[in-house]
Amino acid sequence: MIPIARPLIGDEEKAAVMAVLESGQLAQGSRVAEFERRFAERCGTVFAVATSSGTTALHLALLAHGIGPGDEVITTSFSFIATANSVLFTGAKPVFADIDPATYNLDVDHVARLITPRTKAVIPVHLYGHPADMGPLMELATQHGLAVVEDACQAHGARYRERTVGTFGAGCFSFYPTKNMTSGEGGMVTTNDEMIVERLRMLRQHGMNRQYHHEMLGFNFRLTDLQAAVGVAQLDKLDDWTAARIANGGYYTTHLPQEVAPMVRSDCEHVYHQYTLRIPGDRDQAVALLAERGVQARVYYPMPIHKQPFYQDMGYHDQLPHAERASHQVLSIPVHPSITAEERSQVVQAVNEVLELVSV
Ligand SMILES: *Cc1c(COP(=O)(O)O)cnc(C)c1O
Repeated sequence: MIPIARPLIGDEEKAAVMAVLESGQLAQGSRVAEFERRFAERCGTVFAVATSSGTTALHLALLAHGIGPGDEVITTSFSFIATANSVLFTGAKPVFADIDPATYNLDVDHVARLITPRTKAVIPVHLYGHPADMGPLMELATQHGLAVVEDACQAHGARYRERTVGTFGAGCFSFYPTKNMTSGEGGMVTTNDEMIVERLRMLRQHGMNRQYHHEMLGFNFRLTDLQAAVGVAQLDKLDDWTAARIANGGYYTTHLPQEVAPMVRSDCEHVYHQYTLRIPGDRDQAVALLAERGVQARVYYPMPIHKQPFYQDMGYHDQLPHAERASHQVLSIPVHPSITAEERSQVVQAVNEVLELVSV
């Protein structure tokens, strides 16, 4: 079976972890500082603050912008649940805008219609590694004084109009094993704002600004040096891996029917965290038929967040037709850097066969 994701751990990662173990400095130490410095440099921001996961990066980024009870935060329902849950963690209310069906990212016109006096922030998600439409979104945010927290958990290194994602607002990244680079678990917030950085550093460590002096209620959302050492080694390889993802994605797009292939805006660089097809037939059957042909396909995501049981319990009864339709039609195929040329053509053959069988 060609797996949908395959974390790549080499000798560099192993040696880096051993060096940390031998150093005796295991958490929030010099490797974490190095990872932050290197990650900020890679994104082109002044600062980066490491956290324990992408989820805690989002949570702290919102808190650092003063988001809390009584506030509304507009985001997409077609994402991993952590995006909206991070808003709930602060006591604020997630408000869902629909998506642009071509890119699966926030429909900025719908965002504009949802703004109220309570709206304090917006969270665009660069879903599958394709940047959200940051130009009009930043304009809207500036006009209404909204904080922008980018969920870039799937989009390490992706570019919108030549600019790396995570540099428009506060950028939140994940290093979970299936992401474009990993540290096991881990997260990062990128920003150019010194005041936000100060708050992030306090919030991740019990609100502490100097030894045992606590300015605010904080958390333990620290990263370990073991994880940071892996992260630094992975960062060295990220550009090569991204190039391989883009090459694999390009290969699929030339060998699959245009109407099922993902769209890439001409002003964007897609980093193909996922290569996502839209199936014009029985999508779930397509997943099963691909598995029979040795290709692991996965659905990200089969249910939009507002349809999840506990969001329904909270009273979310939005109608978001594009998000809902996408959740029934999308399917992602393996695009990660470790698939071989042979596997790539096997995937293409399997998908073309399956499309014949399920198309209506
Ligand atoms: C993975 C992911 C997260 C959460 O990251 P974790 O490191 O798993 O906490 C948030 N948003 C999106 C879009 C993701 O893909």
